[in-house]
Amino acid sequence: MEDCLFCRIVRKEIPAHIVYEDDAALAFLDIHPHAKGHTVVIPKHHAADLAALPREAVGPLFEAVRAVAAKAVPALQADGLTIGVNQGAVSGQTVHHLHVHILPRFHGDGGGSIHSAVKAPSGEPLAEIAKILTIERS
Ligand code: 5GP
Ligand code: ZN
Repeated sequence: MEDCLFCRIVRKEIPAHIVYEDDAALAFLDIHPHAKGHTVVIPKHHAADLAALPREAVGPLFEAVRAVAAKAVPALQADGLTIGVNQGAVSGQTVHHLHVHILPRFHGDGGGSIHSAVKAPSGEPLAEIAKILTIERS
């Protein structure tokens, strides 16, 4: 997409510290890191979110996530990783080109888990919610 920031990084119109690249995916350091080695992994195909990503691009994206994650822990001597996606402005998405954050985690870094993103359950029975969310496969 012409004026999408991350598409421009894919086209190398904007510099970035690229740590992984293949035909379908790109990974580069976040310009405002929340941890040492904070990396974002993106599909080269523009998609605002996961639902908009063509199915054939999903596997390669997560292969790239796997590769970056596998490298980061030993390379940084990290104790773990938080891997996540902000989807939609309500969740904090500011760049509307799907990206997977990889945040190296270190004992004592003061951060929280993904559960700390929200704590607002509806209180409805889980069985009712499961009915709404169940996907029938043919
Ligand atoms: P979001 O809030 O949409 O999940 O995350 C977008 C991320 O992109 C932010 O963490 C932000 O620091 C990062 N970012 C924004 N602009 C640039 C840029 O020009 N270059 C790089 N490398 N990262 C960027
Ligand atoms: Zn884009």
